[in-house]
Amino acid sequence: MESCVRANFGGIENLSLIPGTVGAAPIQNIGAYGVELKDTFEALEAVNLQTGEIEYFLNNECQFGYRDSIFKNELRDQYIITNVVLRMAKTPVLNTQYGNIQKELERIGKKEFTIKDVSDAIIKIRSEKLPDPAKTGNAGSFFKNPIIDKDLYHAIKVSYADIPSFDNPGNTLKIPAAWLIEKCGLKGVQHGGAAVHLNQPLVLINKDHASGQNILELAEMIQEKVKTTFGILLEMEVRIV
Ligand SMILES: Cc1cc2nc3c(=O)[nH]c(=O)nc-3n(C[C@H](O)[C@H](O)[C@H](O)COP(=O)(O)OP(=O)(O)OC[C@H]3O[C@@H](n4cnc5c(N)ncnc54)[C@H](O)[C@@H]3O)c2cc1C
Repeated sequence: MESCVRANFGGIENLSLIPGTVGAAPIQNIGAYGVELKDTFEALEAVNLQTGEIEYFLNNECQFGYRDSIFKNELRDQYIITNVVLRMAKTPVLNTQYGNIQKELERIGKKEFTIKDVSDAIIKIRSEKLPDPAKTGNAGSFFKNPIIDKDLYHAIKVSYADIPSFDNPGNTLKIPAAWLIEKCGLKGVQHGGAAVHLNQPLVLINKDHASGQNILELAEMIQEKVKTTFGILLEMEVRIV
């Protein structure tokens, strides 16, 4: 990521500060701030663990979806990804419409922004909201942002006029799971050693020697509260092993 930004290659700057390896990035089609890996992804090379053969997968063969790919489903645990090919843009269209990016860029006061400006803005926003996994154990976003029918959205809006939404194909909208969790009064709630992060309620943290059971029970409590309040079932983004 950093080397692409340094070289002024555009396309993945909105994924700045997502922790992890290149090989893991296609597994869940990592995404943030309106951009997903699949937007620049061309192909990958992988070793088939059964045959030992090297195989190649093009973008359309990876079945990328929202935090999803074929490697989380029918090809789960069957390949080790050894190379990823991305098509970067030398004169990219910067994607600054999502979240607070625009606001952060305005603060810099420049008229035109570079790839590095966008990356720096995102790093600043993320650092303020997300706990550093090196200091506080966490897995990033615990739940996916749910995609709901517009009918349900309008029904919720009657009681919650401030419900935010993002465009999504078809008759659906994407709702920030963090907003749903916060509206249920769960920000900062602790269960055993696990807690809902205060600055970003989509993240569950290991606050004080949390067990896996603490985290799972807290996640299930959140799912239940959100379901009874809004009629929306939050799907876990993390993989429970
Ligand atoms: C603070 C924080 C913020 C985060 N923010 C985001 C975010 O904004 N957007 C987002 O999408 N994710 C986010 N995540 C999740 C995480 O960064 C991604 O899932 C990342 O891809 C994990 O990389 P990893 O190398 O740690 O993979 P791991 O967690 O070690 O592995 C993930 C899965 O991929 C498999 N895998 C790993 N490497 C390979 C390989 N080479 N070949 C085949 N299979 C492999 C593993 O077996 C496992 O099933 C965040 C996590 C944290 C802790």
